[in-house]
Amino acid sequence: MSSMLATVESGIEHLTQAVNGLAVESIDNLTGHALGDDLVAIRRQIDRLEAEFVRRVHRFDRDNGALAEGAASTVSWLRGTCGLTSSAATDRVRMGRMLNELPMTMESFREGRAPFTNVSLIARLADDIGVEPTRTVERTLVDAAEKVDAGRMWYLTSYTRQRLDADGALDRDNRDHERRWFACDQTFGGVFILRGELDAEGGAIVKTALDALTPPTGPDDLRKTSQRRADALVELAARQLKSGNLPETHGQRPHLTLTTTLETLRRDDGAQPAELAKVGPIHAEAARRIACDAVRTIATAAASTDAAPADAATTANGAVLSVGRASRTIPAPIRTALVRRDKGCRFPGCDRPPEWTDGHHIKHWADGGETSLRNLVLLCRRHHRMVHERGWVLRLEPDGSVAVEEPRGRPALVRRL
Ligand SMILES: [Zn+2]
Ligand SMILES: [Zn+2]
Repeated sequence: MSSMLATVESGIEHLTQAVNGLAVESIDNLTGHALGDDLVAIRRQIDRLEAEFVRRVHRFDRDNGALAEGAASTVSWLRGTCGLTSSAATDRVRMGRMLNELPMTMESFREGRAPFTNVSLIARLADDIGVEPTRTVERTLVDAAEKVDAGRMWYLTSYTRQRLDADGALDRDNRDHERRWFACDQTFGGVFILRGELDAEGGAIVKTALDALTPPTGPDDLRKTSQRRADALVELAARQLKSGNLPETHGQRPHLTLTTTLETLRRDDGAQPAELAKVGPIHAEAARRIACDAVRTIATAAASTDAAPADAATTANGAVLSVGRASRTIPAPIRTALVRRDKGCRFPGCDRPPEWTDGHHIKHWADGGETSLRNLVLLCRRHHRMVHERGWVLRLEPDGSVAVEEPRGRPALVRRL
């Protein structure tokens, strides 16, 4: 017994010395190629060390070592003493338990032929469908684990799971489906935080729709991928709202309500901020953008000194005396002609088709600009925002071309086109 303990200790001592050796080695003069060789060799030894770790975790777990050490479980002991996350600890405990029954896989793992991630996928499969069915395909799995990358290995184990245990896979899918959740909460700062979890199919549907709306508009589109994905989600919802295909709530098609005055849209001095439902007060320029292409209802109100509008039935100036009919700021026939002429966003370099666009009044209708082709261009929502909120100046030249000028006196957050 004591001699076995001594062997283990000496293994750890050798390991410590070997790592010390690596730590003092200078890597300043290594070529890229030599560094690459080092990385492969080190990773291989890390994987082999993981195998030895897993082998010991299994004995420790089986002998209730964690309980003896005062921990509630092996996983919590590994978390507390080895700095592993719950999922990393669970993964290793499971690997220990499964690989004890799958010697062919364990051997490949210990010899550094199959990498940690691939072996972990085999252990997960065995845990899901049982060790016996896994043994019938173990040779194939190990052969693959020694050759393919983690993505292909994941595919192979998923495929095997469906083929050998379709009912079990269905149960797991149903459990994943039950676990779905989604939260879309507004903070006191006004921004929304989105969090959630979807089952595989639900996630794929959302991802597919978002991917279709995520590509950059052109070489000058400097948005980060994560920003483009966020814009894609808003675009998806905006299109649904615009299409009018969503079910009615409170007898109305769902829409965002902007309440404002002509003074605000004209940016008159002292005008009150516009109100966007679910958002609160917004900047006049954002209100001008939203009002550019919208359904407009004009209400006449009695003069009043009320400071803040209570809701859509009360304007910024007081009690409503009369409410006109709702009409589009850009009537359908003009929109159709505009689409025929512009064929998409007219901001130079942008290729967004008409479905992505708003009609933009070059001289705003609130400032007396007319709603005619001479005063309108299609802009995608991003470029529409750049013109209003970022101050890009846009002109429709007599020859029909569109000229843009960088904002002056405001920080330019986009590159010159
Ligand atoms: Zn506009
Ligand atoms: Zn555009």
